Amino acid sequence: MTMAPRKPDPRQPRVTIEGEVLRQIRQHARANSKTEVCGVLIGAETGNTLAIRARIPGLNAAQAGTYVTFTQDTWEHIYKIKDKEYPEERIVGWYHSHPGFGVFLSDHDTFIHKNFFSSPLQVAWVYDPHSDEEGCFGWSGQRLERLEEIQVRDDKGGEGAGETGKPEPVGGVEEEAENPPPEKESDVGPPVWLGWVLTVSSHLLLMAIAFVAAWLFFPRPVFFFIDVYKGTLIQAPPGTRLSSDGILSVPGYPEMRISRPERSVPQQPPASENPSVAPKGDEDKSRKEQNAPSRP
Ligand SMILES: [Zn+2]
Repeated sequence: MTMAPRKPDPRQPRVTIEGEVLRQIRQHARANSKTEVCGVLIGAETGNTLAIRARIPGLNAAQAGTYVTFTQDTWEHIYKIKDKEYPEERIVGWYHSHPGFGVFLSDHDTFIHKNFFSSPLQVAWVYDPHSDEEGCFGWSGQRLERLEEIQVRDDKGGEGAGETGKPEPVGGVEEEAENPPPEKESDVGPPVWLGWVLTVSSHLLLMAIAFVAAWLFFPRPVFFFIDVYKGTLIQAPPGTRLSSDGILSVPGYPEMRISRPERSVPQQPPASENPSVAPKGDEDKSRKEQNAPSRP
């Protein structure tokens, strides 16, 4: 603490937020990626610590190009839910989205905060669903500042609010000193290792498909024997092989050498056929000439 070059402002409230609430805020904002959405944060204050445990979404999103507002209707809706579901908790702040224009408090936002959320520990949570960036703003004395530290608590095994033995990441630029961004990866997208597993398994699957395809479509020699007495065709037993040097091996029979004199025979016809092709062409030609109108 004393070594830290940057003051973790003791006047800033220590904020913890449930991971589930964080997810709900992000989902609410992403579902309306063109318009601002808003809601209130529900939780409890103890000393300098603020625990955000739930949120109540506002009635509806702002119209495109307008700001979020807390109208009479919005408050009635919010209090109805709060009294029913969170009678023991307090409204500890509000959240709204900035679809595509970054995390900050506009003059309008500051106005809302000063008028509706002016108690010292109340905070304003801003989330940009386009960049996936978020920030929490709170009172530091008379000033409204972006909080340097936010703790995200997950229901199971999460660290308790307040002082823990764990050193807080302190320092760096104000924007980068917050906790949520590192948590983002595991929270929103699939973890990195899962990506690798999927890549590798998809490659393996491709290979398997290629093997099956090769086995199905590549030419495999099938052998038949001709029963010269009956004049029938008999398929050779599986495993019959003819090696390139003419050894025929049939399972259950001794190997035998096959001479293939016919090999040279098929090569002959094309040579003798060619000459017969040429005259054909001439024939066509002459026929064409016959068909052509004779000129006087
Ligand atoms: Zn705003």
